[in-house]
Amino acid sequence: MIDIGANLTSKSFQRDLPSVIERAANAGVEAIVVTGTSLAGSRAAADLAEQAAPLALHATAGVHPHHAVEAASDWLADLRVLAGRARVVAIGECGLDFNRNYSPRDDQVRCFRAQLALAAELQLPVFLHERDAHDTFLGILREHRSSLTGAVVHCFTGTRVELDAYLSLDLHIGITGWICDERRGRDLVGLMPSIPARRLMIETDAPYLLPRNLPSPPRDRRNEPVFLSAVRDAVAAARGEAPATTAAATTATARAFFGLVSRAQVSDGDGT
Ligand SMILES: [Zn+2]
Repeated sequence: MIDIGANLTSKSFQRDLPSVIERAANAGVEAIVVTGTSLAGSRAAADLAEQAAPLALHATAGVHPHHAVEAASDWLADLRVLAGRARVVAIGECGLDFNRNYSPRDDQVRCFRAQLALAAELQLPVFLHERDAHDTFLGILREHRSSLTGAVVHCFTGTRVELDAYLSLDLHIGITGWICDERRGRDLVGLMPSIPARRLMIETDAPYLLPRNLPSPPRDRRNEPVFLSAVRDAVAAARGEAPATTAAATTATARAFFGLVSRAQVSDGDGT
């Protein structure tokens, strides 16, 4: 399995990150894409991904819409440098969040457009965030889609109409533990059979969105990549397929999307 979105540079992982990563590796997570949500956060994610670990670590580099207002005049030049770091595989998390509006909408739109243009220039895929901003988000994506190599709408929790619009733009869809919530995830469950396997990936969005169906949830409610199996199982059940099928398909899709090299390919290259 590949966790395509985990905020491992979050403060809540500071005390025990090596064991968090080890637990995930032991549970069959072969790679984690560490989410970058600000310049400082993306730098930390790129640093982390360059460290040795029992699984493959990669990172995204981007400015989340919540942080758009903080972007100083030279932010794009800084982001371009970060995007060139060894383990960075995508631009993002970027997009629009009109739910909380931590940044003014104009700043969000400007910051989003600039990152789409950068991704196109660097031929990197984008890791997208959208909340309560579907129409504006879709309009901007439509303008940029033909120049983008790939785009994933992470933590998709929308409607069938929204899903169809994203799929018709040939976007990828990231599913989190939201789907494990009996109440809030009910609509999402019904949409699962409509997502082609080659467009579907899974993620924890740790430390957020702890799956609600864990047999023994951690007392502090912190989510971590080891719980990706709960997302896999819920997606598999909703699609009427075996968990191993979902795991294999989402892993292959994530490898192709982010241009990751599989373990087998790496050991072939070593001649072992
Ligand atoms: Zn997000």
